[in-house]
Amino acid sequence: MSNIATIQLEIEQLGREIFDLIDKDRRHPNLFGDKDFYGRLMEWSMRDPVFKTQMFRFVDVLPTLTSPDDVVKHMLEYLKDVKAPVSTLIRGALTVGRLIPAIPATLIRQNVLAMANLFISGQDGKSALPNLRQIWKEGARFTVDILGEAVVSEREADEFAARYSGLLDFLAEATRAWKLEGPLAASEPPLVNVSVKISALCARVQASDPETSIAAIMARMKPIAIRAKELSAFINLDMEHFGLKELTLDLFKKLLSEPELQDYPHFGLVIQAYLRGSQNDTEKILDWARQHGRQFTIRLVKGAYWDFEKVVAAQKTWEIPVYLSKPETDANYERITRLLLENRNVVYPAFASHNVRSLAQAAICAQKLGLKPGDYEFQMLYGMAKPIRRALVKLGYRVREYCPVGELVPGMAYLVRRLLENTSNEGFLRAKFGANTPIPELLSDPASRLSNRRQGVPDNIASSGSQRLTAVNRPYQEPHFVNEAPTDFTLSSARTRMSQALEVLRAKLGQAYPLVIGGKQVMGSQQMASINPAAPKQVIGHIALGTTLDVVNAVAAARTAFSHWSRTPVEERSGFLERLAGKLRASRYELAAWEVFEVGKTWSEADADVVEAIDFCMFYSQEMRRLGRGRLTQDVPGEVSIESYVARGVGAIIAPWNFPLAILCGMTVAALVTGNTVVIKPAEQSSVIGARFMTLLQEAGLPDGVANLVFGTGEAVGSLLVAHPDVDLIAFTGSREVGTSIWQMASVTHRDQRNLKKVICEMGGKNAMIIDTDADLDEAVLGIIHSAFDFQGQKCSALSRLITVRNVHKRLVPRLIEAVAALKIGLPENPNTDVGPVIDQDAFKKIQRYIELGKREHYLACQAQLPSGLEGYFISPTIFTGVESAARLAQEEIFGPVLVVIPANDLDQAIDIANNTPFALTGGLYSRSPQNIARVRSEFLVGNLYVNRPITGAIVGRHPFGGFKMSGGGTKAGGVDYLLNCMFPRVVTENTVRRGFAPETETVW
Ligand SMILES: Cc1cc2nc3c(=O)[nH]c(=O)nc-3n(C[C@H](O)[C@H](O)[C@H](O)COP(=O)(O)OP(=O)(O)OC[C@H]3O[C@@H](n4cnc5c(N)ncnc54)[C@H](O)[C@@H]3O)c2cc1C
Repeated sequence: MSNIATIQLEIEQLGREIFDLIDKDRRHPNLFGDKDFYGRLMEWSMRDPVFKTQMFRFVDVLPTLTSPDDVVKHMLEYLKDVKAPVSTLIRGALTVGRLIPAIPATLIRQNVLAMANLFISGQDGKSALPNLRQIWKEGARFTVDILGEAVVSEREADEFAARYSGLLDFLAEATRAWKLEGPLAASEPPLVNVSVKISALCARVQASDPETSIAAIMARMKPIAIRAKELSAFINLDMEHFGLKELTLDLFKKLLSEPELQDYPHFGLVIQAYLRGSQNDTEKILDWARQHGRQFTIRLVKGAYWDFEKVVAAQKTWEIPVYLSKPETDANYERITRLLLENRNVVYPAFASHNVRSLAQAAICAQKLGLKPGDYEFQMLYGMAKPIRRALVKLGYRVREYCPVGELVPGMAYLVRRLLENTSNEGFLRAKFGANTPIPELLSDPASRLSNRRQGVPDNIASSGSQRLTAVNRPYQEPHFVNEAPTDFTLSSARTRMSQALEVLRAKLGQAYPLVIGGKQVMGSQQMASINPAAPKQVIGHIALGTTLDVVNAVAAARTAFSHWSRTPVEERSGFLERLAGKLRASRYELAAWEVFEVGKTWSEADADVVEAIDFCMFYSQEMRRLGRGRLTQDVPGEVSIESYVARGVGAIIAPWNFPLAILCGMTVAALVTGNTVVIKPAEQSSVIGARFMTLLQEAGLPDGVANLVFGTGEAVGSLLVAHPDVDLIAFTGSREVGTSIWQMASVTHRDQRNLKKVICEMGGKNAMIIDTDADLDEAVLGIIHSAFDFQGQKCSALSRLITVRNVHKRLVPRLIEAVAALKIGLPENPNTDVGPVIDQDAFKKIQRYIELGKREHYLACQAQLPSGLEGYFISPTIFTGVESAARLAQEEIFGPVLVVIPANDLDQAIDIANNTPFALTGGLYSRSPQNIARVRSEFLVGNLYVNRPITGAIVGRHPFGGFKMSGGGTKAGGVDYLLNCMFPRVVTENTVRRGFAPETETVW
């Protein structure tokens, strides 16, 4: 028999021993078998996935519901559409219970609380102590973790740090007399063991600047680590989502390199085997340990964020960092298990799993390498696998239980994760205790399952290889447009490229940029300087100013080019957009760097703008191919009617500075791909970016005259273009004031005008977000901050009115204010900046005037001090509370980092307030009531409504963008209807009957 076969036999043998002990364990014959609330919930959830989703969502919201009415209302709402018989039963009981809601509400609360107590060992160290003592008495060990709300402010991070230190002190004192005896005692790690989540120690982890985040975390982590050393305690850094992985590994090495901690071995970190790169990470950290002569613990887990990582990757079109098949994760876990055990001289391995196969494999592998049970340990989660823990202790292994402590609200997120894990289709616990899977299957070698699986399932699902979730491997979806991936600034290579691009550009500042008319450069007699709003003395470029004659010449050049370009086949025009996308892609860091300097965007905001420009090219190119095919209007014999489209003529593209590339590019390429020619007028403040765009159009091979570039002010060049009789199409994005005047001007027809002018007009908003009483405030606070203050509130989609329903105000606003205080105001070229300058002096003065008005009429709840030494147009994020819906600050567009908070008595009033402006662009809601979400969906009338997420950041194809009322004419940029605005529809009808005969298949189109 081969070596592998013998090992498999031994694993099976040990596995069976463990299973025997589990089955004999009278205290817990079956993990889900009890007929209590938890047992039934597990049973029903495993039977009906819809019930499971709705029930877990209800469990998640329950702790925030303050009245019995609310509890019953939410439960009924969540179960409304669930078909399972059990939900009919519960619904019936609840409907009766509505007469006296306190009774069912109390019962529900008690049961959910009891369920939470199965997985959470106490509210704090003190209340968890009896459970810890019990674990110790049963011969196991523990590690304690603190559950908490998401940390959004410095105060919350400080509080967390103090709680960790307090926990260490408490546990050291309370367990002083506890001793572990028996054969493993000689090699015993410290009894006091605390697991730390680094995200709890930092208000804002900035992906583009891990060094600053690490420094902030270190400032809180180091004292905790030193205290642990003084108390001879153990500290483990838990591993969270993938975005924090590199940062956590770096932080761990940094912490261990601190002189005070260099000789202390009782620190640990976590490796997640579901990550494709985890073996590589393990090898690297082992090398580091050897090089630096350090010893520490590695806890090997499979990973708790599998679904989340897939969702993030799919939304961002990033490579999925996790394996997509369970046997791959399991097999990788076993590979890393061996690696850790082989390196026992530098690392103490802790195998955290409830999977008997994984545990048995580790034990047998250790035995084969000559290691003893005291040379490593097993770890389990509190409440998840007591029978397995007891079986392993009985067999003489060291087992540690991971015991979370915390309040009910933060505990719910943890509870729901555990419920999901227990009911997961692929999970071991469900297979063993829920589905009674046969033991040979449970103990089979994952490597063999892997090869079986690969035979039956398409490669892209079953196997490895780096992947993105696209239509191809999401069979339930129609093929869809795949967006360009934003830059992942957690990658050091991306950060380096961005820093280099900024450096390179510094040397190119101050150059001259000409007009481009009919393919020729025109320098003009007058120039204007485009400056850096963060440092107004710095000139980004000198721009040639267009004259009336230049405008006339540019329109004439576009008209001349029209006759050829409008007849250019669709395929060629679409191909041109794809080439342009390629050029943009190749220059993405350079273009983003221009945005940082010229309009004050932070790294990620600048990158997002470039990505959107690429998306516009690719999306409109795809759409034009579809529209270019024409459409058979109806299928009737003897006649063929085809609807197709022709270009309108010459377009004037009047672009804004706030999305200096994306909107400019989107409006331009929509006009071009549909066969129009254009005169482009970028905003004065972002002219250099406009010039770069023009160069890329030329480099991508656009014939002379098809696009022409004229710089100048809106009043001069913009007005001339709009009024020009030879302009057929105007694409404008900007303020209401200018937009409405363009609308008016374009309606005037000249005698020699060819067409009625088409105006695509996208204007501003006074966007509102409603925060319901049951909102998840961890998410809402972050969503508000992004929506209101990213790019200094200068997006047309930005949040400017926050409407708080009833008592949520009291819980939300103080957290929001603290979170705003944690934002970093500074030069946008610095990677850790959250808030840069506003665009120019006019904007600065206008926003300041509104702030002064606010100070006179409302309560200034927050305006952080600006850091010293900034010379640009910086304005701190500012919040006013107690604002009436009709107040000027709540009605007029400010276009800056100013947020007003308007209280509402109930949802009716909140919706009224939300709709009560002349605008209808974006809006948002944070709520966990299905009924309230449904109401707001239908009654809050805006072009783009977002539920339980920020209200900015529309993605091409996914969130077609644009509003109505005074926000725009109802066009949707990045949507399937957009290109129709740039064309005239035509229908050609041909009678195909000849002498009474009509062919069955027509070939005319
Ligand atoms: C003591 C302890 C500490 C922990 N600390 C951490 C931590 O710091 N960070 C962290 O992320 N997790 C941590 N975990 C959680 C742990 O990741 C999960 O509990 C664990 O993944 C469950 O794995 P299992 O071996 O018990 O069960 P199994 O049922 O064998 O494995 C389930 C796991 O397999 C993976 N998986 C499921 N479906 C698929 C699929 N289709 N393709 C690929 N992989 C799949 C997932 O990781 C899933 O959690 C810890 C667990 C324990 C016991």
